[in-house]
Amino acid sequence: MSGRTHAGACPERTCVGCRERAAKNDLLRIVRSEDECVPDPRGTLPGRGAYLHPALVCLDQAVRRRVLPRALRAPGALDTKALRRYVEQATVAEQATP
Ligand SMILES: [Zn+2]
Repeated sequence: MSGRTHAGACPERTCVGCRERAAKNDLLRIVRSEDECVPDPRGTLPGRGAYLHPALVCLDQAVRRRVLPRALRAPGALDTKALRRYVEQATVAEQATP
């Protein structure tokens, strides 16, 4: 925990895609596994995390601006295929809600 937020009840994080602050619960945590970005929806994986809205627009912005390797302290480019698949499924699930 970085301890940079003052509010205790509702922690906020910045989306690495659109750079907007949002409640931690509304963002998807991403961690690095070797040279791959993996979604960590339960927030249980160890290591440094980045936060992203589970939305393709935000993922695309993050990928285009190459913020994920920096946010996750990666030495090079990161594979985002697994992350993209997760976000796509989350987006479809949301749109499928009647
Ligand atoms: Zn966003």
